[in-house]
Amino acid sequence: MFGWFGLVVLFMTIPAREPYVFADIRPTLAILDTQNYLRQHDSVPEVYASDIAGVLLSEGDIRNGISAVSARINQDVRSLSKSAGVVLVTVLHGAMVFSSDLMRRLHFPFQTDSVAVSSYEGTESTGSYQVKKEIGYSILGKDVIVVEDIVDTGGTLDFLIRHINAKNPASLRTVALLDKIDRRKPQFAHIKADYTGFVIPDAFVIGYGLDYVGHYRGLPFVAVKKK
Ligand code: 5GP
Repeated sequence: MFGWFGLVVLFMTIPAREPYVFADIRPTLAILDTQNYLRQHDSVPEVYASDIAGVLLSEGDIRNGISAVSARINQDVRSLSKSAGVVLVTVLHGAMVFSSDLMRRLHFPFQTDSVAVSSYEGTESTGSYQVKKEIGYSILGKDVIVVEDIVDTGGTLDFLIRHINAKNPASLRTVALLDKIDRRKPQFAHIKADYTGFVIPDAFVIGYGLDYVGHYRGLPFVAVKKK
């Protein structure tokens, strides 16, 4: 009898799983703005130099972030008592570079899939979201990990969580390389990825998969775009 009581008390004292954030680098923007700072160890291709205000995350920073985030995911997925299979869903196109580096650090079997969402901002403050490319595999009863490039207002991730949960996976985890938490719309204040690489300042960033009208995805670092 006491055993059950003890177990209940134990569960009540275990804190809810906090979203994991590798690093908050918001203060860095001041340096970028005032000194047009480029990290010494990054080689900015000459052709792009005039479009870049500063390098926010070097290749090394990104590598460290991915190491930390993947270690957490590996640990959490190992602790699943049993799984009917894990499906890694990459959100196109922004997360494709991040996802391809992340998946090579995951130490469990998984299938890969992708989804594409477009958002339309009308005169209303709420965006309206549409699936442009649907997930191909059945994720019913599977453990799904969604890989996003960046969470900004929070609308896309909120939409994706609802969209994927409607397909009845066994579990859903979300990973984002970047989070511009200061930009979150009030109605999405509760939206956070379960695993975040870096919380970054409110600036438009490019590189490492992130684009500006289709350009810059191939840059190996994350940079603030010059206005
Ligand atoms: P949200 O729905 O959270 O406002 O925006 C999510 C999407 O907007 C991201 O998946 C990304 O495609 C785009 N986005 C938001 N902020 C940035 C940014 O700073 N740079 C780029 N390239 N895309 C961004």
